[in-house]
Amino acid sequence: MTEKLTIIGSGPAGLTAAIYASRADLNPLMIEGIAAGGQLMLTTDVENYPGFPDGIMGPELMELFKKQAVRFGTRVVTSDVSKVDLSQRPFKVWVGSDEYETESIIVSTGASARWLDVPGEDKLRGYGVSACATCDGFFFKDRPIVVVGGGDSAMEEALFLTKFASRVTVVHRRDEFRASKIMATRVLEHDKIDVLWNTVVDEVLGDTSVEGVRLRNVETGAVEDFTTQGVFVAIGHDPNTALFAGQLELDEKGYIEVFGTTATSVEGVFGAGDVVDHTYRQAVTAAGMGCEAAIDAERWLERE
Ligand code: NAP
Repeated sequence: MTEKLTIIGSGPAGLTAAIYASRADLNPLMIEGIAAGGQLMLTTDVENYPGFPDGIMGPELMELFKKQAVRFGTRVVTSDVSKVDLSQRPFKVWVGSDEYETESIIVSTGASARWLDVPGEDKLRGYGVSACATCDGFFFKDRPIVVVGGGDSAMEEALFLTKFASRVTVVHRRDEFRASKIMATRVLEHDKIDVLWNTVVDEVLGDTSVEGVRLRNVETGAVEDFTTQGVFVAIGHDPNTALFAGQLELDEKGYIEVFGTTATSVEGVFGAGDVVDHTYRQAVTAAGMGCEAAIDAERWLERE
């Protein structure tokens, strides 16, 4: 059987595409991935998604998205796609040894957390180094924690970690935050949070668990060892496009290029969400693009 539409990835973009496509009778197949739900699964309160005046937890929001998609008939496979062949139609998508043929594809594989790439970080990942405060914050009750980054994610992580930590120190490489005003102000005014400006982490210290970080002031060059048991890295994301390299046109940062709205360089393949968008990167904009991709796919299938 050849699928009409296969959606790869299940964050706000993929699941919104699934809601629209299933309501358009395309009977979509969603390959949601092992890390289903995307980045909102790693977040706490979502306060800016319209329709939830009191906020909602990220994982709960994604569960509601999925429920809505399944209600209209989306079929879900909980595995990662291992390979795609976009060189001819029908396209081919492999999940392990299972092969799917499909007339069209929506790519909504999102982006993944970036790491510092300094000595000690990799070795101590899971032993004090983390990129997910929601997942690991609880382990740092009454301990000092360092958060690296100056964007909204770093602000969110720092604020969330104040629930557990004895003290949170935000380490940022410049002298001003990139984060939105409201988030930055909350951090700057929090009595449990300190900020070290113009500072980078050169090394994560510790043998079997984090004992500190080696900090360097980029202005003065001064180096100091700073005692901490936790290092939360929140320095942005890279698009998940390895599967499509050489098959879809990507920009210099690896994001999928789209032309017009959601059409990619291969006819019948559409892109939506953080895998395309490095400007807005919000749940609500990803959901909007997911809707556009489903409508674009539906119209393209009709024309074909
Ligand atoms: P981001 O906005 O790209 O910020 C990344 C931060 O990490 C920047 O401050 C950057 O420094 C720093 N950084 C990058 N590479 C680094 C390195 N190698 N070493 C040290 N620092 C490094 O990423 P984000 O915070 O993940 O946010 C991504 C998007 O999601 C944004 O559009 C944001 O608004 C959105 N978001 C929104 C919310 C919310 O509204 N509640 C929550 C989370 C995320 P520079 O500033 O010097 O570049």
